[in-house]
Amino acid sequence: MAKGNIGVTSDNIFPVIKKFLYSDHEIFLRELISNAVDATSKLKTLSSVGEVKGDLGDTRVRVIIDKAKKTLTVSDHGIGMTAEEVDKYINQIAFSGAEEFLNQYKDKAEAIIGHFGLGFYSAFMVSKKVEIFSQSYKEDAKAVHWSCEGDPEYTMEDTIKAERGTDIVLHIDDEFSQYLEDATIEGLLKKYCKFLPVEIAFGKKKEWKDGKEVELDEENIINDINPAWTRKPTDLTEEDYTKFYHELYPMQFEEPLFHIHLNVDYPFNLTGILYFPKIKTNLDVHRNKIQLYCNQVYVTDEVENIVPEYLTLLHGVIDSPDIPLNVSRSYLQSDNNVKKISGYITKKVADKLAELYKADKEDFAKKWDDIKMFIQFGMLTDEKFYEKATSFALVKNLDGAYNTLNDYMDKVRENQVDKDGNMVLLYTNDPDAHYTYIERAKTKGYDVLLMDGELDVHCMSQAEQKHEKLRFVRIDSDTIENLIRKEDTAKDTYTDEQKEGLRKAFEGLLPSDADKLRYNVTCEAAAADALPVFLTQNEFMRRMKEMSAHQQGMNFYGNMPDSYNLVLNTNHPAIQALVDNTEGQDEKMKQLIDIALLASGQLKGEALAKFVNRSVELL
Ligand code: ADP
Repeated sequence: MAKGNIGVTSDNIFPVIKKFLYSDHEIFLRELISNAVDATSKLKTLSSVGEVKGDLGDTRVRVIIDKAKKTLTVSDHGIGMTAEEVDKYINQIAFSGAEEFLNQYKDKAEAIIGHFGLGFYSAFMVSKKVEIFSQSYKEDAKAVHWSCEGDPEYTMEDTIKAERGTDIVLHIDDEFSQYLEDATIEGLLKKYCKFLPVEIAFGKKKEWKDGKEVELDEENIINDINPAWTRKPTDLTEEDYTKFYHELYPMQFEEPLFHIHLNVDYPFNLTGILYFPKIKTNLDVHRNKIQLYCNQVYVTDEVENIVPEYLTLLHGVIDSPDIPLNVSRSYLQSDNNVKKISGYITKKVADKLAELYKADKEDFAKKWDDIKMFIQFGMLTDEKFYEKATSFALVKNLDGAYNTLNDYMDKVRENQVDKDGNMVLLYTNDPDAHYTYIERAKTKGYDVLLMDGELDVHCMSQAEQKHEKLRFVRIDSDTIENLIRKEDTAKDTYTDEQKEGLRKAFEGLLPSDADKLRYNVTCEAAAADALPVFLTQNEFMRRMKEMSAHQQGMNFYGNMPDSYNLVLNTNHPAIQALVDNTEGQDEKMKQLIDIALLASGQLKGEALAKFVNRSVELL
């Protein structure tokens, strides 16, 4: 028997492994199974080039729990290791600069594991002793038994092993007895190994029979060795994609809207499938996430720095051996490969959306409400995406017609350009509340957009910045005559004194001081058939307030009270009758104010009751 010291240049490798890796103990299983899968894949490669002769036989990787012995074994029939190889790959884990690296990163377990190929040693996170039994595929190789109890000392001796391959036996620490539970191990296998390219068996298949769960003879295979993203798009049907979606997210019952199959091999390697989910509520958004794989091994579902933030709303998988998996987040952000990957995905997603819109506008419009939030988020945060998205991002009008903004502007250009050449797009976020305003716009032949999405206000501001002479105005933000001023705007013949008298008289009737701050009384020559008195709300102030609700540092606007213009329509007979003649007309004027409040849904409670009573009396 040989005894020796593990050739790490520093004694502290085990304390580091044990102490600093506590956050992610469970990855030991991923590391060991990855090694087993690699060894099996290598054997298959050798066999395919004729270096290994004959039938390979059973190549499944097995995970076995022995509760009595308190061991967990990962067993493969791969290439195995000779004594020399164990010495080289397991004992000599010293690398140049290892010591320095350990000191620098001692609190970053994942970095150590990934960087230095300490995958195997992660077994010591949960074991008091680890044994290797290995039989190399090489002719005349003797089987080897290696054993180590979590200190730099190990033993190595010849042994007899009937089958080719490697068994890694973990004597699980008492404090980690959960790793001897079937349910825990099955859960971890499902998480990390669901799509590995070699079959992973854990126990036997079970079936419910006569109200009891019985074991079948068949082994329980954890994984799908040919997941959809590794296959050619031409070999896959729509059904295959949907089936795979549900394989990825077994708890998701909603069907995806569509998918994008990613496949690049230059200048980096990346495959994957992204799905556009139906997003019903904000809560749904981050429940299922994009999963990141490295050669079919699950790594993480925190892809924030690898794909642009708005793309994290998508579902699916990305598999790339080129993403540095075990480095810090800030490093990822500056990594050139990662930037390229992110740019590539953005482009692919945008191209696919453009293609879908072009192919079937009606169908795309049907999906628009479900994908709108994601596309708008992308447009607002990614300039490149914005440029592409102008060809498929849609606006919807009150008749339910969808158009790209450019197409829509062409449609309304004739009627909705004001005398200064500004294109004015009218919108509402609440058609019921704005009913009277919308009706007035319609009598002028204007079109009204529905902008009730969470990001609509931001997108309108963005569009205004991009298009010179484009303005969005909410339908209640001024009289329709003022919103789109034409040459022939109505005028009145009253003097400033007359109008000021009228204004003061109405202002004096506002019930409280607070109301006086809230409602700014003005005179306007609106259309004769518009309401005699109505409310408008300044577009700029309102929009600032709405936008500041989502943004920090804009509290100034957020804290402003809502304020409105109470507009006296000097072209309306009811107002004209009051010019120079407000004496003794308080009840009538109050009635007019209340009608304006009522028309915009602001008359409530006691004020509403008073209005009703007054109306009855007037009858
Ligand atoms: P990495 O897998 O990152 O190289 P590990 O510490 O996990 O680092 O493994 C070190 C080496 O030991 C592997 O590269 C491989 O050569 C060998 N090895 C580990 N496990 C096995 C196995 N099950 N079968 C054959 N060789 C193995």
